[in-house]
Amino acid sequence: MRRGIRTPHLLEVLRQVPRHRFVPPDMHNWAYEDGPLSIGLGQTISQPYIVALMTDLCNLQGDETVLEIGTGSGYQAAILAGMAALVHTVERHAELAKRARRTLDELKITNVHIHVGDGTLGWQDAAPYAAIMVTAAAPRVPPILFKQLAPGGRLVIPVGSRWSQVLQRWVRTGEEFDSEDILPVAFVPLRGRDGWETNGMNNGDW
Ligand code: SAH
Repeated sequence: MRRGIRTPHLLEVLRQVPRHRFVPPDMHNWAYEDGPLSIGLGQTISQPYIVALMTDLCNLQGDETVLEIGTGSGYQAAILAGMAALVHTVERHAELAKRARRTLDELKITNVHIHVGDGTLGWQDAAPYAAIMVTAAAPRVPPILFKQLAPGGRLVIPVGSRWSQVLQRWVRTGEEFDSEDILPVAFVPLRGRDGWETNGMNNGDW
């Protein structure tokens, strides 16, 4: 498995963003283990290594506008905020979006815009993006995301079945898209028009 993170600045950002602030108090003890963490409503923050890897795969220089689908706790958005100029992030659960907003405000992270909506439709208002990161598992790449990617842009997304996926990186070269399989992963499902079917939200989101 590829385990090296290439960007020194990314390691600095990972050190600076306090992961425990993004999880409920009863999870604080686990916040610095290299494992996924429950954030409520059946959702999870990825293990730190996957957060780092996905961020690294976006190849950010610092001046970009990027899009994240699946705000969750806001942790990944906070990491992206340290690596790019501006982050737009879309979350379908209003309650999670509200909590993420509060956490980011408390940490004085001001370059993240959180939107409540169906992220399988991307976020057209600020497109095109230098990088798009999807942090929930899709049955296939939602086609609109390709349209919202700038030339040279990178799209990082777990694609596969409900229970196991492959992390893919797509790079837009003009009107063409090259894809690369990175490693096997297991994310919670991306739901919505171009994702998995939605269901009742009573028992978590499964
Ligand atoms: N990146 C998050 C973790 C993501 S968990 C973090 O750092 O904490 C996956 C998230 O995707 C969940 O919050 C889930 O509600 C959200 N999600 C699922 N389908 C979505 C969709 N179509 N649009 C936006 N968010 C979606």
